[in-house]
Amino acid sequence: MLIHSCGHTRTYEMEALLKLFLPAQKFAFSTEETLPQEDCISAVMTPNEDGSMLIKGTVRLYGQTRCDETCCSASLQGNALDKVLSQLLYPMLCQITGLRPPWGMLTGIRPVNLLRRTAEQTDSLEDAKRIFRQNWQVTPEKIALAEEILSVQRPIFAATPNNSVGIYVSIPFCPTRCRYCSFVSNSVTQMKRLLPQYMDALRQEIGIVAQVLRQTGLLVDTVYIGGGTPTVLEPADLRNLLQWIEDAMLLQAPDAKGIRRRLPIREYTVEAGRPDTITEEKLQILKAFGVTRISVNPQSFQDAVLKASGRPHSAQDAVDAYLLAKSLGFENVNMDFIAGLPCDTFVGFRQSIDQAIALSPESITVHCLSLKKAADFYQTLPMPDADVVAQMVEYAQKTLCANGYRPYYLYRQKNMAANLENVGYAKPGFESPYNVLMMDDSQTILGIGSGASTKLIGGERGIERLTECKYPYEYLDRFDSLMEQKRGLVERLAALD
Ligand code: SF4
Repeated sequence: MLIHSCGHTRTYEMEALLKLFLPAQKFAFSTEETLPQEDCISAVMTPNEDGSMLIKGTVRLYGQTRCDETCCSASLQGNALDKVLSQLLYPMLCQITGLRPPWGMLTGIRPVNLLRRTAEQTDSLEDAKRIFRQNWQVTPEKIALAEEILSVQRPIFAATPNNSVGIYVSIPFCPTRCRYCSFVSNSVTQMKRLLPQYMDALRQEIGIVAQVLRQTGLLVDTVYIGGGTPTVLEPADLRNLLQWIEDAMLLQAPDAKGIRRRLPIREYTVEAGRPDTITEEKLQILKAFGVTRISVNPQSFQDAVLKASGRPHSAQDAVDAYLLAKSLGFENVNMDFIAGLPCDTFVGFRQSIDQAIALSPESITVHCLSLKKAADFYQTLPMPDADVVAQMVEYAQKTLCANGYRPYYLYRQKNMAANLENVGYAKPGFESPYNVLMMDDSQTILGIGSGASTKLIGGERGIERLTECKYPYEYLDRFDSLMEQKRGLVERLAALD
């Protein structure tokens, strides 16, 4: 399939729009003056005599061709022009494919944030919902979901101090790589030789970030250790990591008697993730350092699905790890599930969700499989089709809400099965502020480690992102220059509102 553009450069948005209908396809690009003869989506802009621009749109697919046109101001650029292109091309794509994407023509990853911002701009949530429905063709079910999430999030925003930050520490290693993995995660067996150096780099970076916090007076609101699978670390490494964080960031300066008190933070999460990394010794270490929230991720309670997904643990291993965490006194445990895994069925997924509810973790996050990364096995294994994935997600939403969970954060990814979304559900009071604020881009996040993103919120530039190298070897190679950048954050942070 070809993406054809002429007279403009908004091909990225055209591709994002097309992926709503053909999520796993690869596209080629053309900027020829003539319309291609093969299957294509095309938008050609030419000036009108009155100075405005004419945009001719064409969609040619499945042996059908649809054409339409519209006019816009010649000065239209960026997002505003994207919207005009989407509104021209989207109806033709719906007609030819017969599909109605649940989030309409919205291609961004944060629809709840968009609903909130639109409500602020129009001064009316009702107007924002109308724009979602009429202009962007979002279904009433998804608008209701976004609205409910917004109402759950409001007290979390209200309780967030202005001068606070979230800390993210990345452990980009896992015991083995799951077949559907869309993260930069490295099998610890392959990368073992890098670990001592990586841990030492983390120790130094934690010290530098702590210095930045002291110089700017910013307060730590949440700490989130993610990955990868942080509990892949050996107990001694895990203990050291938590000790460095504690000493550098979570203890006050000594008082007159030399006592250092612990600063109150709203949340301290460690992703324990893979059940095959969880041991009593590691959980005891997390507990001893005041970790308040962990994630134990079954992904499915069907052994055949886990095997097809390349996860070397059973459903029972996940149950055992969860019960162990509960027996050690963890009061806030999250479980992740994925809708759309290979060999899964609606019935299998329903059983997984029912079993999770019976275990009663404080939060349950339901992801949809990202198709692009799944491409290798998606060709060779039975995959649930888009309608089944939509049914799974609908079942999870209805059943979780009927059992005392509320949706509290949501994000979309490119290439998601059935064009759906990832949703975190929590019992009231167990919503993760880190997840909410990070996904809403409403709090500065200071990332530490390879693949961790530092995100500065506020100031003239709105949001500024610094991503530390994706791969551990790159991070280690460039460590000195990355840390120079980190030290330079002081001025930029001080300049934020
Ligand atoms: S546990 Fe998560 S991060 Fe690690 S390989 Fe599996 S999907 Fe990737």
